[in-house]
Amino acid sequence: MATSYDVIVIGLGGMGSAAAYHLAARGQRVLGIERFGPAHNLGSSHGGSRIYRQAYFEDPAYVPLLLRARELWEKLAADSGREVFTETGGLMIGREGSEAFTGTLRSAHEWGLDHEVLGAADIRRRFPTFNPAAEDVAFYERGAGIARPEATVTAHLDLARVHGADLHFAELVLGWEADGPGGRAWVVTDRGAYTADRLVIAPGAWAPKLLSGLGVSVTVERQVMYWFQPEGGIRPFSAERHPVYIWEDPDGTQIYGFPSIDGPDGGAKVAFFRKGVAGDPDHLDRRIHPDEIAAMAEYLRPRIPTLPGRFLKGAACMYANTPDENFVLARHPEHPQVTVACGFSGHGFKFVPVIGEILADLATVGTTDHPIALFDPRRVRV
Ligand SMILES: Cc1cc2nc3c(=O)[nH]c(=O)nc-3n(C[C@H](O)[C@H](O)[C@H](O)COP(=O)(O)OP(=O)(O)OC[C@H]3O[C@@H](n4cnc5c(N)ncnc54)[C@H](O)[C@@H]3O)c2cc1C
Repeated sequence: MATSYDVIVIGLGGMGSAAAYHLAARGQRVLGIERFGPAHNLGSSHGGSRIYRQAYFEDPAYVPLLLRARELWEKLAADSGREVFTETGGLMIGREGSEAFTGTLRSAHEWGLDHEVLGAADIRRRFPTFNPAAEDVAFYERGAGIARPEATVTAHLDLARVHGADLHFAELVLGWEADGPGGRAWVVTDRGAYTADRLVIAPGAWAPKLLSGLGVSVTVERQVMYWFQPEGGIRPFSAERHPVYIWEDPDGTQIYGFPSIDGPDGGAKVAFFRKGVAGDPDHLDRRIHPDEIAAMAEYLRPRIPTLPGRFLKGAACMYANTPDENFVLARHPEHPQVTVACGFSGHGFKFVPVIGEILADLATVGTTDHPIALFDPRRVRV
């Protein structure tokens, strides 16, 4: 006989661990199933840091979710006692008309968000690690900062357990099924079979496998993070003086980076935003190649001259992209007892706690007060 639960959460990465916690905290009998270990580095939620920002060039419709996420980041830090979030301020550099600058500014105006606009001379004076061109401008937001993926996943898993969730690791979900509307759902793994009133499926880069019936194209992209030890020391990059940043070139290329948060020898992390190559989650190239490192160092030298002092390490990660780069977050159109969360398109982590809250709403009451119309899978069904 299959063991029975109120809700089974498939995938305990960023989104699934948050859902497991919010569901368990509401008194649901939760089973979470994850193919790897807790807070592993084989999916999309590793590498020590993620940018959190509020004025959102991707679409101002994300802003209310970001504001709620910020409240929940504070609560998660308090409830878990873990450093899951650090405010550092955020700088979006670009030309007039760029996504990073003008798009962000538009979003701030629409929502009345606190900010400053800086010219090239102000950028140099306030943040001397940057070497902007005379035509560059920047949007500065004090409330931006760093979310910590591994600490966040661990915090959500720990709190889910405190609220009674059963969490299974190193267990691969082979398939799931749902009876007709109002019926139960079934999950088969390499270790057993389970049944529940509802399912939450948050498979990250494995969405094409576990959610093929959803009809949404999710393409997986290999993305590399680079850590460099800056020339002349780490001090100018310390989190007390250095913001998180996105810097967009006139050709649309964007890099983003972080202050140093891993001690004097930990370096500072930087990456290209959306310049990945297609990847398969089961056969991802996790080696970081010399030509990639050289290309990043060369790109940085004119812009953040001291950063590419010495290459320390790199790590590969995956984006799971929808065609329009907006998330998929909804009840499954064919199976109302199944809630899906996928296609976070390289910008989902800053939302993790609010996504957990939304998934718990959808799985328990079927609707949410949060604005999620943008994330309806039917918009991008093929
Ligand atoms: C390099 C990089 C930089 C990023 N930077 C930012 C940033 O600065 N700011 C930001 O907001 N976002 C950022 N993101 C995006 C963000 O990290 C992701 O959107 C988010 O982590 C996705 O979470 P997820 O839960 O969908 O995926 P994951 O965390 O990968 O979780 C999915 C889980 O499902 C499990 N799973 C899959 N299939 C099965 C199965 N069959 N059985 C059991 N378990 C299964 C997987 O093992 C995995 O643990 C970045 C991503 C990368 C890769």
